[in-house]
Formats: sequence, C-alpha cells, structure tokens
Amino acid sequence: MLEIITLPVLSNNYIFLLHEPVSGDTAIVDPAVAEPVLAELSKRNWQLTHILNTHHHWDHVGANLELQQQTGCRIIASLHDRERIPGIDKTVGDGDQIHLGGSTGLVMETPGHTLGHIVYYFPDAQSLFCGDTLFVMGCGRLFEGSAAQMHASLQKLRQLPDATRIYCAHEYTQANARFALRVDPDNPDLHEAIQEIERLRKQNLPTIPSTIAREKACNPFFRTDDPGLQKTLGMQGQPAAEVFARLRSLKDHF
Ligand code: ZN
Ligand code: FE
Repeated sequence: MLEIITLPVLSNNYIFLLHEPVSGDTAIVDPAVAEPVLAELSKRNWQLTHILNTHHHWDHVGANLELQQQTGCRIIASLHDRERIPGIDKTVGDGDQIHLGGSTGLVMETPGHTLGHIVYYFPDAQSLFCGDTLFVMGCGRLFEGSAAQMHASLQKLRQLPDATRIYCAHEYTQANARFALRVDPDNPDLHEAIQEIERLRKQNLPTIPSTIAREKACNPFFRTDDPGLQKTLGMQGQPAAEVFARLRSLKDHF
C-alpha cells in the first residue's frame, strides 16, 4: 500500500510524496522546490527514487534537476514534453504504467491546461494525481489546449471509480467554490461541501484529497450535463462540451 504525504509549498502548491514500504521506492509528484522535499525525506529516512511530473510549468518541475543531482532519482514525464521538462529519464504516454515496488500507476493523457499534461492514477491506492487538470470544485485554465480537449480530459477522469481520491496540485478550493455557488446555487451538496471546506481552511488545513464522487456532486466542470446548472446558464439541453466552454470562460473573468 502506498503511503501518501502532502507538502504545501509556495503560496498554494502541493507536492505529494508516495512511499511504497516494501521496496522503499519513494516518488514525488511535481516538485516546485527542493528544500521542503529534502527535509521531509530526511525526516522520514526515505530515499527518493522517482519524480513524476504532470506538466512543464515551472511550479511543477522547478526542482527536477536539483533533486536529481542530490538523490539520483529518475524523472518520468510526458513524451509530449520531452523538449521542455528538464532532466527526463523516461517519457510516458496514455496507458503506460509506472511501478513503485508492487504499486502500479497508470498514465492518462489529459490535454487542456497544457497539451502535454498527464495524470497518474494508482488503482490499488485509489488515488489520482492530477496536477493542474482537475481541481477541487474547479479545473485548470486553458493555456494551450481547447475547451473541447479539456472537456474530454475531464470526462475521462470523471469515469474513474467514485471512491478515487483526488490529489490536485493547488489549493484553489475557496475561490473555486465561490464560482461554483454562482453557477450552481441550488445544489445542496455544494452548500454542504463548502461548510466543510471553510472549516478546514480556518485551521489552515488542505482541502485535498477530494473524491471523484464529491466532484461529481459539486464541481461545475463535472456537471456540464446537469439540468439545474444548464438552466442557470440559460443553456438547457445544449451539448455538455459547449456548456463546459461557457463555464470556463465565465470562470476566467469571475
Ligand atoms: Zn500549470
Ligand atoms: Fe500549477
């Protein structure tokens, strides 16, 4: 079983440590900075074996080279980002597997935020590391991909089992929740989830992991086929991909 540690860094980034106790394999997802990672590794007496990058933005790869030099770990990243992520040892694409001891992660390509964006899904650990594709109650901005691409990527994630835990790379939940309330004001699950989020943030605790089930109930970008949400937007019966495009552009200007 994977042990998963969440490290808050910078103003709102999360780095995740994944430790497989039998083999001792230890991976980190998206190291923006090295210092807190090295401190956590030495505190736990873990040896870093892998870096798993989701995409090329600096706040996800910034410490790749420093950590590789200090630990000799292997860097795994998208084949589409081969030219723009530093220090890659192994490129991966849709359906590829990565192994941390006996624990297997599946790579899924989720273009939209960037064209090369990938996520790592560990079925045994019921955990998804989704970078800047899916956020709690939100999704990443479209820096490179189209709305149609991002919508298709989110629909892929939406099909994962309900119990899957969502580990996203930023603490954007409160701002996302304000937007969700605007477009989905009559959703009782959303109101309930927001109470929990406010309780956590008051104690300065992360709002992650969420779950696929909760995102289906609360995340407007997962609810593009919901009649109530479509009605609020004046888009009853319209294709979900178009509802998504409208939502994304409303959120960009919110
Ligand atoms: Zn990003
Ligand atoms: Fe980011």
